[in-house]
Amino acid sequence: MTSTYRIATIPGDGIGTEVVPAAQQVLDAVGSRHGIRFDWNEFDWSCEYYARTGRMMPENGLEVLAEHDQIFLGAVGYPGVPDHVSLWGLLVPIRRAFRQYVNLRPVTLLPGIDSPLRDVPAGGIDFLVVRENNEGEYSETGGRLYRGTPEELAIQDSVFTRRGVDRVMRYAFDLAQCRSGRLASATKSNGIIHTMPFWDEIFRELAAEHRDVETSEYHIDALAAMFVLDPGRFDVVVASNLFGDILTDLGAAIIGSIGIAPSANLNPEGEHPSMFEPVHGSAPDIAGTGAANPLGQVWTGAMMLDHLGHPQAAADVMAAISSVLADTGARTPDLGGTASTQEVTAELLTALARTE
Ligand code: ATP
Ligand code: MG
Repeated sequence: MTSTYRIATIPGDGIGTEVVPAAQQVLDAVGSRHGIRFDWNEFDWSCEYYARTGRMMPENGLEVLAEHDQIFLGAVGYPGVPDHVSLWGLLVPIRRAFRQYVNLRPVTLLPGIDSPLRDVPAGGIDFLVVRENNEGEYSETGGRLYRGTPEELAIQDSVFTRRGVDRVMRYAFDLAQCRSGRLASATKSNGIIHTMPFWDEIFRELAAEHRDVETSEYHIDALAAMFVLDPGRFDVVVASNLFGDILTDLGAAIIGSIGIAPSANLNPEGEHPSMFEPVHGSAPDIAGTGAANPLGQVWTGAMMLDHLGHPQAAADVMAAISSVLADTGARTPDLGGTASTQEVTAELLTALARTE
């Protein structure tokens, strides 16, 4: 029996248009061995689309996406188009409309990759960051007053709702239960005296409900330091939107390159499509040179397979990534090699064929 999925593909800008086709090839190859068929439906929504139309996506863009099982995205953003345009014109509306309230980012040091940290053994970094993805510090409320005067000021509100905090934390507790049972929370309740104590309160209520999970709370500054000094202690980390954003860029750095870090914007209930996108951006500095590392996009594809309920196919993709990193030395420049996007992709396909 073949499972067929309608996937909305948004390659986006820059290297997004290079690594998405690479990952599609890998997913098609692994899918054919597991009875999985992808119906790719491509959309050219991007900063280039914005330059032509004044919008990042058409007015009915969300309705069009809603007809798909999942969304597979490369990266949006390009010099000349302000970052808030690509963020608020495409990514945020998708994340909110489809209640993708979990942003899940694995921080795993793959075999064969050197962490910039000293003395990290193979397998020494392996945890998941659960970032709140729908509310928190990234809000529309606030404003500017007294522009151009010495009294000028700016106010940005953070919005934390009980429902929003509760659901993302429940996801994190469940995840910890399926792993080593340790959950750390990122807070800053000594300095941020309304929202963060609220965050902590809900975390403690849920901890009381999940006695089998060993919980800890860290102020975000100390937590960031711990990511560098002792990353091996973490299993699952739950964080607000802003704190999670910062922590996961740091997480991508300690696993060797932002070019390999994956992420998933999840609607855990599966009522709406989820969106899968690598941590990296459009990397205009290397776009068009063939130097883009496709592994982040490919790993992101493995997360999509997992979410679709195909853990074995996802494991095959991860095994292919590991074998390419371990054996062939086919690496893009960000990992110290000289291989191109296409060469790494070809090696992945060869590795997949070998496991047949
Ligand atoms: P955005 O605003 O879209 O997040 P950015 O400029 O913040 O973009 P990236 O586009 O991720 O960040 O680029 C950061 C650095 O990492 C750049 O030097 C880029 O070349 C490098 N980089 C990002 N992705 C990759 C990749 N897949 N392969 C190799 N290098 C990459
Ligand atoms: Mg960025």
